[in-house]
Amino acid sequence: MKLPINKLFKGKSSSETKVKYIQIDENSKQNANVDAKEENKEEATTICPKCKQEFKKQEIKDNLNVCVACGHHYVISAEKRIRTLVDKGTFKPLKCKVAFTNPLDYPDYEGKITELQEKTGLDEAVLAGVGKIDGYEAVIAVMSSKFLMGSMGIAVGEKITNAVEYADRKKLPLIIFTASGGARMQEGILSLMQMAKTSAAVEKFNNNGGLYVSVLTHPTTGGVTASFATLGDITLAEPEALIGFAGPRVIEQTIGQKLPEGFQRSEFQQEHGFVDQIVPREKMRETLAHILRLHCKRGK
Ligand SMILES: [Zn+2]
Repeated sequence: MKLPINKLFKGKSSSETKVKYIQIDENSKQNANVDAKEENKEEATTICPKCKQEFKKQEIKDNLNVCVACGHHYVISAEKRIRTLVDKGTFKPLKCKVAFTNPLDYPDYEGKITELQEKTGLDEAVLAGVGKIDGYEAVIAVMSSKFLMGSMGIAVGEKITNAVEYADRKKLPLIIFTASGGARMQEGILSLMQMAKTSAAVEKFNNNGGLYVSVLTHPTTGGVTASFATLGDITLAEPEALIGFAGPRVIEQTIGQKLPEGFQRSEFQQEHGFVDQIVPREKMRETLAHILRLHCKRGK
């Protein structure tokens, strides 16, 4: 089943909204996926990768994909993330269709994208739109690690840039939830160019006085970290998210040294001044509403 994304948000409650989720190759066992649809006996439960306790998947799903015992944050889909943040029925996706391109003639690339589109209901690794949080209107973009690890290619760069420019034109605050394994290798150098493009759009938005809240989620790495993810006026992060440029293994191999405990996790980044506040998922809506209340005029 595939639903057009604009049908997902028309006042549907979580139980009514049916979206297909996929199992992805996680680059970290830390984030097992609880959203898979198969509900046969063995798969109706999940073992938390952090506290190792067994739970019903439904119990975790009903708790914003957060472990009820230890607070481990599982992956959450972009659509569910938005549904848990915005006032019911207020989210409208921005129209920004980017035609598929395969500049390097990368084998099987188009088939992979089509398959992911069908499985996730997203057209690319970011979902952007306008919605209200506690009555405050904002442009909200959410990256999805379920779509080629949230890698940034031409389409993701264009969609993020479009969201920033829309917020600039409409004088709306901008909130971006990042989740990315880095640049999209299938698009080569054109992926890297998205760093300059998105950063330039954020700079212009900033010069015009716009408020940009960046929310870093697991994992935020590579070209996304090196561009718009770390350019927020306020930078929030979910607990224990991996936040960095190169991954810890690559760094260890390069410098030939063991890295300190908790290196590149949210808590480490907060201690070192890269993150302003760590916000658990259950407090995210409240925290964003508070920030918007302090900085913005209430929308109609
Ligand atoms: Zn747990």
